[in-house]
Amino acid sequence: MPKEFKKAYKNKMRSYDGSPGENYWQNSSSYTIVAEIEPGSWKIKGTEKIVYNNNSPDSLRTIVIKTYPNHYKKGAARANKVPLETLTNGMILTDFAIDKVPFSLEEGPNVKNYSSYTEVSLANPVPPGSSITLDVNWTTEMPSIYVNRIGAYDSNSAFVGYWYPQIGRYDDIDGWDKLEYLGSQEFSNDFADFNVKIKVPEGYNVWATGTLQNPDKVLTAKELKLYTEAKTSHRAVTIAPGTTSPKISKEIETWHYTASNVKDFAFGMSNTFKWISNAVTINGKEVLSNVVYDVNKNDAAERLLEVQEKSLVYLSTISPGIPYPYPSFTTFIGVPEYDGMEFPMLANNGISDKESENTGVTFHELAHTYFPFFVGINEVKYSWMEEGWATFFTIKFIQSYYKGGKDENAELDRNLNSYNKLAGVMWDVPLITPSFLLTFRPSVGQLSYRKPAFLYLTLENMLGEATFQKCLKTYINRWAGKHPTPYDFMFTFNEISNQNLDWFWNAWVFQPGYGDLALTGFDKNTSKVHIKNIGGLPVPIILKLTYKDGKEQLIERTAEVWSQGDSSVEIDIDNIKNIKSIQLITTHYPDSDKTNNGLEIKL
Ligand SMILES: [Zn+2]
Repeated sequence: MPKEFKKAYKNKMRSYDGSPGENYWQNSSSYTIVAEIEPGSWKIKGTEKIVYNNNSPDSLRTIVIKTYPNHYKKGAARANKVPLETLTNGMILTDFAIDKVPFSLEEGPNVKNYSSYTEVSLANPVPPGSSITLDVNWTTEMPSIYVNRIGAYDSNSAFVGYWYPQIGRYDDIDGWDKLEYLGSQEFSNDFADFNVKIKVPEGYNVWATGTLQNPDKVLTAKELKLYTEAKTSHRAVTIAPGTTSPKISKEIETWHYTASNVKDFAFGMSNTFKWISNAVTINGKEVLSNVVYDVNKNDAAERLLEVQEKSLVYLSTISPGIPYPYPSFTTFIGVPEYDGMEFPMLANNGISDKESENTGVTFHELAHTYFPFFVGINEVKYSWMEEGWATFFTIKFIQSYYKGGKDENAELDRNLNSYNKLAGVMWDVPLITPSFLLTFRPSVGQLSYRKPAFLYLTLENMLGEATFQKCLKTYINRWAGKHPTPYDFMFTFNEISNQNLDWFWNAWVFQPGYGDLALTGFDKNTSKVHIKNIGGLPVPIILKLTYKDGKEQLIERTAEVWSQGDSSVEIDIDNIKNIKSIQLITTHYPDSDKTNNGLEIKL
């Protein structure tokens, strides 16, 4: 365990049974933002107040302010591509004040401006248990095309995320988060309350994190009636039909949203998109489920409202089986390609020409509700603890949604094939590698999504569904609204499964192993088959025996067969003399070399 983690456990911040410790703390903030957006240019002007609460035992001598929109500024540090034609002027902060006292953000002894954050040294440190108030005015603009999770869809529609000055995260492990936003990773925020007023021209609709406070002020009488109906209707209601000839108005309307205890705030806006909606009953409460899209380009999105309903129910009742914890969810189809990006209560997705991929991405982004949002995962460091779960849940949801059909294993196959293709190369590094070190796109895909999804599937297979569910639910309930580390996750599974799984974590999380089993031979005298674990990753063994009379039999062992650290095992086979061939079945778990999976038995 690295030093900074050891300290956290020693200080009783965290405990070795996987629960938050008796001294657990985290900082919080509340944002009051008024922002005016000019469609077309996508310029945004904001006035913002942040009240930041120092719940840590430390006196804070500095504060870190994240300016994510500077990612799009000419000359900014970037690991993800941003097309030159969409570069912006970044974010300009003015009228900055600390506890009402004006403070210059010019570079100097007390101000260090980095590419995507500013570090301010405070004249008066913030003592433990007290607050600091920051006021700032700012201007920025959204990229004119969709790039790195956000941006404009066309001159009428945009998805606005990573858009306002944010206080950085300060935690027990790292102190201030002073990592640059390079585009290759997401964000890492503390939980906050938001009170946001978004000013847009009349005729625009705005879908955001949280609850709309003034539908009667911003919706037409007709829309208001339909919106009110949708809140309790289990059938789809079309609140806005979508149009190609939107009304152009100079009048400004203010959309007022509030959200409490969430990690971020984002919104989509359009004056052309169709808006369909219904209520989904979750644990006795109605969740407002919205899908909004360009009816002229993306009519394949119509069916996604039903997918979203099934997704909400699946996540709430089956896996992870914890009721969806927020009042609404909106899928905004703003991405001009097959992709998706999650925000609290909101996703910005694209459309594929494959139906199962649209089902999958709708579910996947919604599944992120649990990780990283409800359970506050640090996406910049441990993306395998959120993307991996979203991928795991999606594989299972697609299997259940398309059960018995040709797409039943579409999501599994897609992930398995990609995993196998890339497994075992030098940059297929251990999962514990901090995500911010991964700027090479294929390694992000492998280590944030696929490998951890197969870790969770292998673990479920080994523990059995009931024990796995119990561990997962306990983990979520323990860490809801908090920030677990990988160790908190692993300790919880150890404790709740009542097993020491350290051998499993060691191989899957800390070692650079990959999935590759080989059938290396058999012993006709002892009737044993030899299997070698070439990649070193503990994966289940599934053997198919084909008898001379044509009958087939499956023999399965969970990953536990590798718990002693052996590099090969022997499996007893009955009646080896009557067997024609033996095959390792690798349709469900990683196996990156298919050439060593079969044996013909010739006696
Ligand atoms: Zn994801």
